[in-house]
Amino acid sequence: MTAIQHLRLKVYSARRRGRLIGIAGDRESLLRLCNIKRHQSRLWTIESVEQLVGVIQGKVFDWNEGAAKPPRWKLNWLCPDCKQKQWGDWSSDVPNPCLWYSECRCIDKWQISWEVKHPPYIEASFEP
Ligand SMILES: [Zn+2]
Repeated sequence: MTAIQHLRLKVYSARRRGRLIGIAGDRESLLRLCNIKRHQSRLWTIESVEQLVGVIQGKVFDWNEGAAKPPRWKLNWLCPDCKQKQWGDWSSDVPNPCLWYSECRCIDKWQISWEVKHPPYIEASFEP
């Protein structure tokens, strides 16, 4: 019995000259995330496939917090089945919820709803 909540949705993926660059839950977010410009569109292939993803909550925090270094914002989440900690680079361009590949074998992709762990710090430079 799995603890993972599943959701069937359309996953958009972008390839540049055949190489997978990014995934997103809608076309507009994908174009923004992969920084695809209209005049470059011939280099890119965009596909959408309906599939089952895991639904999960994630937390964004600065891995360098407390250190005298520039922030390293990471989105962190935990697989409810195998308990593997997973993470990815985060920026304010990341949609909420976002899609991410899974690093464990329980599922292929996650839809992650995230919250920033220190809102007062980030909201000043953050678009709604
Ligand atoms: Zn897992």
